[in-house]
Amino acid sequence: MNKIETIAIRTQSERSNSNEHSVPLYLTSSYVFEGAEDMRSQFAEETPGHIYSRYANPNVDEFIDKLTRMEGAEAGWATATGMAAVFSCFAGLLESGDHIVSSRSVFGSTHKLFTEILPKWGIETTYVDAHDLEGFQRAIRPETKILYAETPSNPALDILDLEAIANICKQNSILFAVDNCFATPILQRPIEFGADIVIHSATKYIDGQGRTLGGAILSNQEVIAQIKAFARHSGPALSPFNAWVLSKSIETLSLRMERHSDNALKIAKRLEDHNSVESVRYPFLTSHPNHELAKKQMSFGGGIVSFEIKGGVEAGKQFLDHLQMFSLTANLGDTRSIATHPASTTHSKLSPEERAEVGITDGLVRLSIGLENIEDIWEDVEQALFS
Ligand SMILES: *Cc1c(COP(=O)(O)O)cnc(C)c1O
Repeated sequence: MNKIETIAIRTQSERSNSNEHSVPLYLTSSYVFEGAEDMRSQFAEETPGHIYSRYANPNVDEFIDKLTRMEGAEAGWATATGMAAVFSCFAGLLESGDHIVSSRSVFGSTHKLFTEILPKWGIETTYVDAHDLEGFQRAIRPETKILYAETPSNPALDILDLEAIANICKQNSILFAVDNCFATPILQRPIEFGADIVIHSATKYIDGQGRTLGGAILSNQEVIAQIKAFARHSGPALSPFNAWVLSKSIETLSLRMERHSDNALKIAKRLEDHNSVESVRYPFLTSHPNHELAKKQMSFGGGIVSFEIKGGVEAGKQFLDHLQMFSLTANLGDTRSIATHPASTTHSKLSPEERAEVGITDGLVRLSIGLENIEDIWEDVEQALFS
């Protein structure tokens, strides 16, 4: 009983005395001890216990146990948001003077961490283009501790070669951390390709219904012990309620990811044939420059499709304005289809040259394809392209 769909459903925290079938919500900030000796030994970490919900909670335990097993990791730590997971990873593992090598195309707030927050503590980051394997090797210095990457990347959907980068990391004795938010463990398990750390924003597909924020770090015992030492005392804890919601969400993650991917592939193919569209990016289209690599690393292509609309910034904005069903919102991985235009929103502060470096052209539209009926999704896209 170790297949991923079964793990997602059957990993449960211990039943309470009520013998419930579905795990209840444990809204408690602290836990009682049997006596002074029990209290002493739990604080000394000689016997396991929850102590206080900034450290541990049965709902949080269940959520992180599921993800740990699904990613094939040894241990994990849950956080209140995806960014708390990214930050806790660096704060727990690095010290002043350490260096990070990262693929250039990373989530906006991660970019801010690299360029504005971590430098305050003397931690520097060097960016490398997604496909420049030699560049990754060249950027590594004696003080480099972590190589960081996102694949598929947002919003250009670059596919990075996990195995090749993991080998570079092993040769240089540095940790390889992968933000696996776009794929989830259903589509891609970076640890199987040699990554050391997997990071998630559970806010996206893991919740998948646009309700709660959450994050997770999955790795080996040693790495998680260091992250735990930081997080227990700095407080990025996931709330029990959000953990309970997320843990339930995981039960349907495989079904949702398959349908997201199925719908997205159909939309990507139809867009490719449309004459208002310049080009389409989707990992499982044969026209994707890294299609073979995507097929090696991922079981399906995921729910995000990016395409270049003819007519640049204005055409991109008009397309968004003409959509009737799609939501215009700063989220992705929802049951509801979502459209964004990065050049006029999330990436508007970058110069055109900087945007080009991360593959964001003026007419690039990012669609997060939801779980509505495929024909309704296409009808909306098509009428917005024509109007
Ligand atoms: C959203 C996102 C994050 C940050 O997650 P939050 O839960 O919003 O803090 C990190 N990485 C990627 C790839 C994301 O899409």
